[in-house]
Amino acid sequence: MNYISTRGDNTTKRFCDILLEGLAPDGGLYLPEKYPQVDAVTLKRWSTLRYDELAYEILSLFIDDIPPEDLKDIVKNTYTKEVFGTEEITPVKSLTQNLYIEELSNGPTLAFKDMALQLLGNLFEYELKRKGKILNILGATSGDTGSAAEYAMRGKSGISVFMLSPKDRMSPFQQAQMYSLQDENIHNIVIEGVFDDCQDMVKAVSNDLDFKQKYNIGTVNSINWARIVAQVVYYFYGYFQVTKGTLSPVNFAVPSGNFGNICAGHVARMMGLPIKHLILATNENDVLDEFFKTGTYRVRKGGETYETSSPSMDISKASNFERFVFDLLGRDGERTKDLFGAGLSKNGGFTLSPEDFNKIKEYGFISGKSTHTDRLNTIKNIWEKYNRLIDTHTADAMKVALEYNYREVPTIVLETAQPAKFAETIEEAVGISPEVPEKLRELENLPKKFIIMPVNVEKIKNYIEEKALK
Ligand SMILES: *Cc1c(COP(=O)(O)O)cnc(C)c1O
Repeated sequence: MNYISTRGDNTTKRFCDILLEGLAPDGGLYLPEKYPQVDAVTLKRWSTLRYDELAYEILSLFIDDIPPEDLKDIVKNTYTKEVFGTEEITPVKSLTQNLYIEELSNGPTLAFKDMALQLLGNLFEYELKRKGKILNILGATSGDTGSAAEYAMRGKSGISVFMLSPKDRMSPFQQAQMYSLQDENIHNIVIEGVFDDCQDMVKAVSNDLDFKQKYNIGTVNSINWARIVAQVVYYFYGYFQVTKGTLSPVNFAVPSGNFGNICAGHVARMMGLPIKHLILATNENDVLDEFFKTGTYRVRKGGETYETSSPSMDISKASNFERFVFDLLGRDGERTKDLFGAGLSKNGGFTLSPEDFNKIKEYGFISGKSTHTDRLNTIKNIWEKYNRLIDTHTADAMKVALEYNYREVPTIVLETAQPAKFAETIEEAVGISPEVPEKLRELENLPKKFIIMPVNVEKIKNYIEEKALK
């Protein structure tokens, strides 16, 4: 399997070449040269596999430069009951006829980013060892991604993590989750500033190419292809739980921000999984809903990006979206480059031609949005009708799913976080606080490990110089 860039550079690469990389050299995103096709016989055969067995089958279609036995071990050691809390890894629960929830939120940080990052941690460790290399991961977080990355990389050999977070800006729960990690290879740097300061400092350090090279600085960003491919697995798995080998169509409803989760659904559908609709849901930050309704993609300015009660979807542009547009434009790299390259920052967006916009139908996407009030009503409604608490992000997807006629085709709503992470809004909606899972109950009392630093790039660099793996 070869990988190409969405912006027309056809230099092909293999999976392990792009595993530790971010953007392609031409600024595009990596995609497989073509999507492997899965026929009915294979689907039937896969329909009874355990999660890790299925993950191996799917990943090995995309990864042919890791020996099969090694890949099998990596996957088996990733998707375990110890890490994900259940044998099924992503259990599917029925709420009522043709309405399901697939739980992607049983990992160490109680959010769906664990599904991909846990695998990424193991793949990174394997590949770095094989190449005799080390990696110092530098990142900025306002909450969830940073902790999922730290839980994925903790204790891994050849890897250390430097994570910048804004002082007093994260929930006590998020702070406890990150700062209670005692692992030697995890460095929490609390910045006396806001999230943008953290992000700017990461950029400043990464732009110093000598420094970056000398200390093997890398990132774990949302555009990494391995993350997408890891997420393809739970679309197949959820599908099989619901259809039980009948191969009838289903819908997936996906709470979306950076278009990573639903991009994996798109890949699964392109491979031949019978998905009728991919139902994309946004919160008040409705860049993507606007696009799928109108064909106009308009990047939001800072002041137009709202802080909402589903904060992991508060985005101004969707970093993985270019992958879908590349497919939509018949994989025309030149045109994709025109839309997403210099033009995007100059024009702040683009509008598809009516012919291109019409083609979206063939890809199964429909979309909708949800507001804080919708979220409260949906959480209350699902609690009262089905005795189940859902988190704010899942509520966004549920709201949009219920607007469509889900009774015609089974609809699987992807649960991306546990309600305990967003207790305040749950209380506002139903008047009770969600139960905190046992393994996290003690978290807030654990000792914390972090260092506080001012907004000062030189000081951060000095700290990295001192602590980095060398
Ligand atoms: C990251 C995240 C999302 C959005 O997923 P994308 O891949 O960015 O579209 C939704 N819900 C939760 C809880 C998340 O952490």
